[in-house]
Amino acid sequence: MAKRKAIRAKIRDQVWRVEFAHIGDFGHCEYGSCRRTRRIRLSPTQSDADLLDTVIHEMIHAQDWDLSEEAVTQRATEIATVLQRVFDVTRKPASPRGSARSSRS
Ligand SMILES: [Zn+2]
Repeated sequence: MAKRKAIRAKIRDQVWRVEFAHIGDFGHCEYGSCRRTRRIRLSPTQSDADLLDTVIHEMIHAQDWDLSEEAVTQRATEIATVLQRVFDVTRKPASPRGSARSSRS
């Protein structure tokens, strides 16, 4: 897998940094830290299909922090599942060591 680069993304009219880091989870976005810094962190070791789900998940948190974790997970996974099928994204690991834990926060 090519090295992933950090990007800037506009979420609810604010510029966020979306970056890759070995964080132990698929993705991370915490109230009080990411909203102040406007930063989403993503594990680079997950499959493209899982990464798609994770990006959507963390963006929903950034858009609507008060939404429950269960609602975020359901929305993100439903959207990701359709996009994975539309774009034929597989769940194969991105690398032989792709072993990120299956949690998002
Ligand atoms: Zn979450």
